[in-house]
Amino acid sequence: MKTDHWRTLAAAMVVLVLLPVEVSDAGWLSDMLKGSSKQGQPKRAAAQKPAASPKRRAARQAERKPASAKPATLNPAAAKPVAASCDPAKFRIVVDVGHTAESEGAMSARNISEFVYNLRLARRIEEKLKAEGFAETKLLVTEGKARSSLVRRVAAASNLSANLFLSIHHDSVPKKFLESWEFEGKKSSFSDRFSGYSVFVSTDNPEYRTSLSIAELVAKEMKGQGLKYAEQYSQSIMGKYQHPLLNKETGVYSYDKLIVLKKTRMAAVLLEAGSIINRDEELRMDSPEYRNIVSSGVAVAIKEYCDRRWGILGPL
Ligand SMILES: [Zn+2]
Repeated sequence: MKTDHWRTLAAAMVVLVLLPVEVSDAGWLSDMLKGSSKQGQPKRAAAQKPAASPKRRAARQAERKPASAKPATLNPAAAKPVAASCDPAKFRIVVDVGHTAESEGAMSARNISEFVYNLRLARRIEEKLKAEGFAETKLLVTEGKARSSLVRRVAAASNLSANLFLSIHHDSVPKKFLESWEFEGKKSSFSDRFSGYSVFVSTDNPEYRTSLSIAELVAKEMKGQGLKYAEQYSQSIMGKYQHPLLNKETGVYSYDKLIVLKKTRMAAVLLEAGSIINRDEELRMDSPEYRNIVSSGVAVAIKEYCDRRWGILGPL
């Protein structure tokens, strides 16, 4: 890698893994990413966890690679805010793979972990962004327990001097909506009630306006691809998971408690690409075509944002 910033990724992980951080391994997005663990759902019993599939083993191997290759030195300048430059050659995008191999997030209707879905899609997004000229795009794969990994993600993004933190997730539902079915002889859970993508920002992020601009462009591209957004987050039926809908045309929500959105010092956007607990939508998302559509949409959106900025400001 070209710069010192990239080489500090492992350093942040090595240092912060030692910090005493409260741990919660509840499965769903909202439980994984909030600032408080008090509302977390009960832990999934370890005995109920299925044995690691080949896909999961592959994901774990992939996860180990980035962290092991870097020297353990901290960059003292890394904590300083970075002046935004939208020159694609310099604009640093961290594509964050939601959850970890150890704490995999939601489980799909067909018992594939969210982490596997996140990793596959995030890799495709990284490829597309690089193909659009964003050479400084970095895939961030984090290890460890859920909550401590969130702190490490924020630190890694700072150490990488990222201009944009883009977190990739796949959605599920609160437990009360889960139904049972059998898939490949195994008792499994699903909910076909909700579907769709959603895009989240935090009004507490110091670069909120930039975050919102990029989120709206991402959501516009998703909608432009014929995808529908998840409207349920605007409805009271979601209880504590109800969120303010910032753009009712395209599906941008604010979710102020998410650590990776509020604690990051650069613009930050979280994309729920779709619901993997919905049986039809899971089938659609488990395809190269779908990953292509979503990743192209993300890349076009960020390029559009930067073209506007770059056109106005020129080289800094
Ligand atoms: Zn998630």
